[in-house]
Amino acid sequence: DSPDQYAVMGNPIAHSKSPRIHRQFAEQTGQQIEYRALRVDEGDFEQALEHFFKQGKGLNITVPFKQRAWQLSGRLSERAQLAGAVNTLWMEGGVLVGDNTDGCGLVTDLVQNQRLLINAKRVLLLGAGGAARGVLQPLLAEGPAKLVVANRTLARAQELVELFSPFGVVEASSFEALRGAFDLIINATSASLEGEVPPLPPGVVAGHTHCYDMMYGAEPTAFNRWAKSKGAKDCIDGLGMLVEQAAEAFYLWRGVRPDTQPVLAALRAEMGQT
Ligand code: NDP
Repeated sequence: DSPDQYAVMGNPIAHSKSPRIHRQFAEQTGQQIEYRALRVDEGDFEQALEHFFKQGKGLNITVPFKQRAWQLSGRLSERAQLAGAVNTLWMEGGVLVGDNTDGCGLVTDLVQNQRLLINAKRVLLLGAGGAARGVLQPLLAEGPAKLVVANRTLARAQELVELFSPFGVVEASSFEALRGAFDLIINATSASLEGEVPPLPPGVVAGHTHCYDMMYGAEPTAFNRWAKSKGAKDCIDGLGMLVEQAAEAFYLWRGVRPDTQPVLAALRAEMGQT
């Protein structure tokens, strides 16, 4: 029997860590799968999906196709419906099913790996793009005392707050209007990609503040360097989120939960981190 086919689609995709992550999950759990990275041109996504699912079993979707995948799904999980984006696809009875495991990946990393209690905490989420929207419901489900969404374009933060206020105490802010220290700050802006840090007023970070950047890399991100300079309690990158969202997708496809710890450790070692 040939192994079941899986892949991640995006553009760019060459540096994706997903094939390595899923191959390690498969090895660890004895699952016979093949997982590749597929670069798809902007206009070709729909056709590429159709082609893949003639034989393929499941897909991960990354930048810039998560919203398109959401639109093309025949059925959406509740969390994907709310996220407005899909990062995991499979076929069920001829129907394309879309789910989103990013938010669950973030919360699993925070709560299980970092042993961080979100309940009753003051949480600040920076950004109001696709990544922020995808994590809002799982974060609110952890019961923070208050969650503030701050964004450069205030109107986008306000839209998210309107959408997610049924799920918990959430309010919108500009960066400048933020006051007081937070217990947890999550950076879901893409500012770190350009080596930038959102212009946050002094005092949002105190000695007890945990800082989390969804971005990751061999070197500490611009946001985490900034947070450290402000005396944050700890500065965590998004590699754990990446591995945990992959584990959830693997579970949805295969019905088996991989152990994420050795995979995360191997990735950190490869990146020269210990
Ligand atoms: P989007 O393009 O959808 O949103 C970008 C967000 O960043 C917007 O809120 C935008 O503000 C803000 N922003 C961009 N540049 C700046 C800047 N210079 N200063 C302040 N704010 C800025 O991106 P995504 O939401 O898809 O991704 C955000 C980040 O999350 C990326 O770095 C991505 O790599 C990471 N990510 C990590 C994952 C993981 O598994 N670890 C999973 C998913 C995402 P405005 O609205 O004003 O334009």
